[in-house]
Amino acid sequence: MKKIIVVLLTVLMLAGCVAKVEETPKLVMATECTFQPYEYYDGDEIVGIDVEIAEAIAEKLGMELEIVDIAFDSIIPGVMGEKYDIGMAGMTVTDERKEQVNFSDSYATGVQVVIVTEDSPITSVDDLFEEGNNYVVGTQAGTTGFLYATWDIEDAGLGTVDSYQKTTDAASALLNGKIDCILLDNEPAKAIVKNNTGLKILETEYAVEDYAIAINKANTELTEKINAALAELTADGTIETIINKYIGD
Ligand code: GLN
Repeated sequence: MKKIIVVLLTVLMLAGCVAKVEETPKLVMATECTFQPYEYYDGDEIVGIDVEIAEAIAEKLGMELEIVDIAFDSIIPGVMGEKYDIGMAGMTVTDERKEQVNFSDSYATGVQVVIVTEDSPITSVDDLFEEGNNYVVGTQAGTTGFLYATWDIEDAGLGTVDSYQKTTDAASALLNGKIDCILLDNEPAKAIVKNNTGLKILETEYAVEDYAIAINKANTELTEKINAALAELTADGTIETIINKYIGD
């Protein structure tokens, strides 16, 4: 009898352990991994500023982070459709997006810049707005760079816009002469220039933006929890340490 009880207890304890492991809730993050240093592949591993901040947030929330790498323009629809809990991809806060998702407090700043080939006739951002120049501006699909280029250049009849799913594909198109420049965020731009010879970033900036985490509009509880975690991670210097690790100062 004693033996049976011991066996039974052991089985119950084991079952308890398994249940506990299964109980750790997941925080599913949608991102797009050609956005170095925020999210990119280092071998098989997805690393970067957003990844480390999301990991620190998940830990504070007692959750396990799961990362899904998808096209940038699928992130917001996926968060809206509750396929993913958060969208974190160096994502700029805009009024249009605010109508679709909640944004956490901002955790970083981004600047839109222009990449050209070293011998490019484009020497400043103003050249893109010059009548008759008709440049082809490369962008990543669904990004603010795409929106600015569409509104300011294509819709104004000053040039055209070509969009790519990956920033790395836009870089190849620029090197192959298919496009005249790329409008994108400064840190990935620096990574592209570093990883490819013959490219440079124009000194003039296009726009300054705030990055934040996108969350489903109905999930105000998660937004509040993430903001509380971000506040703690900011106060104790974790966010700054993570950003400095990848960007330096
Ligand atoms: N910051 C830009 C945006 O939110 C680009 C982000 C990205 O390409 N990952 O549109």
